[in-house]
Amino acid sequence: MGFGGRYKVRSRVYEPGGKTPYRISRSKIDLFQECPRCFWLDQRFGVGRPDMPAFSLNVAVDELLKREFDVHRVNGTPHPLMKAYGLDAVPFSHTKLELWRDALRNGIEYLHPETNLSVRGGIDDVWVTPQNELLIVDYKATSKRKEIELYDHYKRQVEVYQWLFRKNGFKVSDTAYFVYVNGNAGAPAFDGKLEFDAELIAHKGDDSWIEGTLRKIKDVLEGDDIPAVGECDYCPYREAAGKTLYAKMKKPKKLPGSKMIKHEKASESTGSLF
Ligand code: SF4
Repeated sequence: MGFGGRYKVRSRVYEPGGKTPYRISRSKIDLFQECPRCFWLDQRFGVGRPDMPAFSLNVAVDELLKREFDVHRVNGTPHPLMKAYGLDAVPFSHTKLELWRDALRNGIEYLHPETNLSVRGGIDDVWVTPQNELLIVDYKATSKRKEIELYDHYKRQVEVYQWLFRKNGFKVSDTAYFVYVNGNAGAPAFDGKLEFDAELIAHKGDDSWIEGTLRKIKDVLEGDDIPAVGECDYCPYREAAGKTLYAKMKKPKKLPGSKMIKHEKASESTGSLF
């Protein structure tokens, strides 16, 4: 039995011992942090997690924020949010900005010589201070009544961008910013519009974990040992589902008008479940 639906196993995977630099995105580093086993299945065998549907409202908010900050980039002026938070900076102009923002195909990239891993990540924005220090910026959209908290994977995300810009020769501030817009779900009515409050949240980044993580990633990519699992409910689920199907398929079947037969290929049929 093959995979149903649109799920596909990728054919482009990491080849152990290969000499060509291997491109790895920021989100795959995050996958490794989350669960080395899922990362290994994805990168060594092309068995990635199924794609999630795109959150089109978030995509729209990102796009509108980009446009809004781009107006100030062209004019060399601070955005009102920067003024409101007393931040002395303007959006940074650079010929490669659109490449850096292209998370799917490009992003900012650095070849880490020790591991031969070419790390890349697509940024939302970058601002610059009068001292020529870059501030890495990420846009986030949510709708919450509680105080907004920064998840660890958000922090790791901007820390990888800080590291990438430093490795590309830029002076980068330790402080990164999240432009957080919060949809007001408490409004009396929808009236065809959703209103957002915008906040600027600072995070003091620390990129010292990145190179050690790249070494661990390299070891996992080169190795044949099945790495440890992270913490999620899918592995116990897959195991339970696989064992149940395997047990069912192993049971002798009686076909109408025939003798009992054994399902000899049961183990092959369930191989994809573990
Ligand atoms: S624990 Fe979750 S994330 Fe890790 S391999 Fe299993 S399914 Fe993947």
